[in-house]
Amino acid sequence: MANFYTDTPELKHHLNHPLMRRIVELKERNFADKDKYDYAPMDFQDAMDSYDRVLEIVGELCGDVIAPNAEGVDHEGPTVANGRVTYASGTQANLEAARKAGLMGMAMPRRFGGLNFPIVPYIMAADIVSRADAGFENLWGLQDCAETLYEFGNEDQHQRFLTRVCQGATMSMDLTEPDAGSDLQSVMLKATFDEKENCWRLNGVKRFITNGDSDIHLVLARSEEGTHDGRGLSMFIYDKRDGGVDVRRIENKMGIKGSPTCELVYKNAKAELCGDRKLGLIKYVMALMNGARLGIAAQSVGLSQAAYNEALAYARDRKQFGKAIIQFPAVYDMLSAMKAKLDASRALLYETARFVDVYKALDDIARERKLSPEERQEQKKYAKLADSFTPLAKGMGSEYANQNTYDCIQIHGGSGFMKDYTCERLYRDARITSIYEGTTQLQTVAAIRYVTNGAYLSQIRAYEAMPCAPAFEGLRTRLKVMADSLEAATARVNELKNQEFQDFVARRLVEMAAFTIMGHLLVLEATADADLFTHSANVYIRYAEAEVGKHADFICKFRPEELENYRK
Ligand SMILES: Cc1cc2nc3c(=O)[nH]c(=O)nc-3n(C[C@H](O)[C@H](O)[C@H](O)COP(=O)(O)OP(=O)(O)OC[C@H]3O[C@@H](n4cnc5c(N)ncnc54)[C@H](O)[C@@H]3O)c2cc1C
Repeated sequence: MANFYTDTPELKHHLNHPLMRRIVELKERNFADKDKYDYAPMDFQDAMDSYDRVLEIVGELCGDVIAPNAEGVDHEGPTVANGRVTYASGTQANLEAARKAGLMGMAMPRRFGGLNFPIVPYIMAADIVSRADAGFENLWGLQDCAETLYEFGNEDQHQRFLTRVCQGATMSMDLTEPDAGSDLQSVMLKATFDEKENCWRLNGVKRFITNGDSDIHLVLARSEEGTHDGRGLSMFIYDKRDGGVDVRRIENKMGIKGSPTCELVYKNAKAELCGDRKLGLIKYVMALMNGARLGIAAQSVGLSQAAYNEALAYARDRKQFGKAIIQFPAVYDMLSAMKAKLDASRALLYETARFVDVYKALDDIARERKLSPEERQEQKKYAKLADSFTPLAKGMGSEYANQNTYDCIQIHGGSGFMKDYTCERLYRDARITSIYEGTTQLQTVAAIRYVTNGAYLSQIRAYEAMPCAPAFEGLRTRLKVMADSLEAATARVNELKNQEFQDFVARRLVEMAAFTIMGHLLVLEATADADLFTHSANVYIRYAEAEVGKHADFICKFRPEELENYRK
């Protein structure tokens, strides 16, 4: 009977952010759909009510169906026979329930059968689903791929594939190969044009593909013979109904056991090009991965929420030395840090989602008409913010999910090590979040340029100028000191002009920016709702300023000659 949306007031708080007015305005284009679809909103409030209603349905489904199925799915897992995957029975029930509730293709336009949801409420659904079962979130969340197909496919492909996604067809993104993991430029799956049949043919192997037996695949393949880098890669659509791809095996994993991770063999599989040749990695897969990274950030936040809930309930219940363990400072220190990291990573998630929403909605409008100069400027501003915030949200959110699930077990003591408690599944499920869709190290590679070119710092200065409640002025002052430390550490790294040193300290620099940004977001959240966020703003900034100080000390004292001690 639990509702995973209504029992977490922080979610509604983020849904009601002031920027939603602009997002809805751009997304609904004068509410033109209201004359064609009886479920389309008539005005801003109507749109917000519809997000709220659908999220309530998601929350109910998660509380009543997906969460209760999670343990069974974790034990049963999927199986493979004759090249085809069978989901665990609980997964099948979850998918059926999600389809029935109309939760597939949520962000797709109504003309394909979607709900035309902005990214914010869609990603909120992902956050809620992940709390219930992070493994299932993968299968449900792969509907993200439809966004890339919508952006880069043609009208005919939209009609044929997107309508199916909205009716419940599942998707996968087939990128990784045995020799191409973080370095996708090395992808070798071969695409050749079949003149006789007027189609492309795919041959080769993909590895670690989530939901690899899905209905519709987006595939990265080498279409330009003789090439060896990203410029020879194109993106293809493979329809399972055409055959030619078999699942050779599914991996026996540590966590997210309900989500089948497949090795795929392509044998002359018929496929069609999506977009233009040679832009597969450079443009399309970059867009695909940015969407998926936001999805993993949501998955991470959902896991952090689940871990916090489990830890809090246990700490209140468990008694030692004659009192509930929550009364011990060592335990409430861990719990408040968990909540602060949860609130901080969630604030970063929805800030990023809003940035993505604005620029994507403007991109979409640009497909229909020329943008005004002001709109073009707005589009550019938010695209840049979205690009710079996405690796932070994914990198930090996933690391916090790992830390929070670890602390959740710690708070459970010996019981946490036992299979009887949910926390051990959460711990196993969280581990992958900092690896797939680009490891934390690769998120750093994506983010460091925004430190060195001052983009994060200028957004931090913009936050400093935003109004905040008098009660939080003191926190603001401390955040300014943190920003000054970031500025000084960045200046040192830029001045030294030593690439190896920069790469070596990159993660510390990126974290300094992330800590400061999340601190600011919590001050803004607390200004809007003091009851919900005052504790976390205080706890997080206390923790973040210690971390920033530590990193600044390391970077400013480190001499590049010392790298000799570290090289292997
Ligand atoms: C459960 C699961 C599901 C997955 N689902 C999918 C999917 O649906 N589709 C898909 O295409 N792929 C999927 N993957 C693949 C996943 O994205 C890759 O495993 C991941 O990107 C890392 O690649 P790799 O495993 O080859 O590690 P490697 O690239 O070999 O990395 C090994 C280590 O080296 C570090 N490293 C590598 N390059 C650098 C660098 N330039 N700078 C600093 N450090 C570096 C990494 O951070 C890591 O610590 C999945 C993987 C798993 C385990």
